[in-house]
Amino acid sequence: MVANKKVWTLEEVHELYNTPLLELVYRAATVHRQHHNPREVQISTLVSIKTGGCPEDCAYCPQAARYATGVENNDLLSVETVRSAAMQAQAIGASRLCMGAAWRNVKDDEDFDHVVELVKTVRELDMEVCCTLGMLSENQAKRLAKAGLYAYNHNLDTSEEYYDDIISTRSYDDRLKTLSNVRKANLTVCSGGIIGMGESVEDRCKMLLTLAGLSPQPDSVPINALVAVEGTPMEHLKPIGIWEMVRMVAVTRIVMPDTVVRLSAGRTEMSQEGQALCFLAGAGSIFAGDKLLTTPNPDAYEDMDMFKELGLIPKKPFTDGFVPQIEEINEDLSSNPDDLRWSRPGHTIEANVQYTKLGKEKRKAQE
Ligand code: SF4
Repeated sequence: MVANKKVWTLEEVHELYNTPLLELVYRAATVHRQHHNPREVQISTLVSIKTGGCPEDCAYCPQAARYATGVENNDLLSVETVRSAAMQAQAIGASRLCMGAAWRNVKDDEDFDHVVELVKTVRELDMEVCCTLGMLSENQAKRLAKAGLYAYNHNLDTSEEYYDDIISTRSYDDRLKTLSNVRKANLTVCSGGIIGMGESVEDRCKMLLTLAGLSPQPDSVPINALVAVEGTPMEHLKPIGIWEMVRMVAVTRIVMPDTVVRLSAGRTEMSQEGQALCFLAGAGSIFAGDKLLTTPNPDAYEDMDMFKELGLIPKKPFTDGFVPQIEEINEDLSSNPDDLRWSRPGHTIEANVQYTKLGKEKRKAQE
């Protein structure tokens, strides 16, 4: 687990963010070399085990049922399908498999029992297993831990202030509560955000400040660039430039020195030279495979060539020392109803409402 080393202020994070770019990259690369092997980059693969039909209104997400994005809904994938996806991922050098389900929150039902089986199946292949299933209770986190889960992902997305313009169906505190439940189950925490959603630099700095202020800091921080999908309220946003991505990776590296910074969605818009700068600035992981949940991702063979060219080595599983085991459950781990009562801010977001209406109209027209 990653201990906090320094308490950062917003002014300091801001100052870092505004440091001349090459100076910032140099500082970040120095920190990276002090805390990590700079040649090692973890390859992770993201598998959407249950796609679409999500009741939330995240303005960036093509899987929100209310927007008409053309994403096809799929039920939970079978154990065999996931085992074979994990083996294919291992064949391209992946040491971590992340399974995502488009749920608001985990429920204590047969679907969750099935996810627990999926976690055990992938863990038995000697891979690090991560899940991103929405909000979850402490006991649900414990069940996943006993199935051999390595990490749980739940992103903060952006600053607390800007979050109110992005999602109305759950609060920032709900997100922080899930992260705290994950910690209580002794799982590693993966939490990051998305840039390019129209947020200010101040929002980016505030999000990093919140993440860096968690005690302990997240073990893993994905930095995503928005992939604007037609039919979502963010469909008109332009891709962010590579310099912003490099800057964000570098600042994340400096304020959370032991964390693995993950270069996540948006890599298709980046040249290999741009990605190389991100690795220099401290990115220690990529997601490989042709899809990231529902959005495109670079070809795995191109990634292998890039690794060869840059002298990078795929990181092996469990090198950080945490080796979760599959354990029997000898206690009642059903959730307390209070754990599952999430707060709702009760506010509306005009763009999300408008695109919900548009979605309804489009679906009606297609009937
Ligand atoms: S980001 Fe997750 S919670 Fe939000 S709509 Fe998409 S699948 Fe649902």
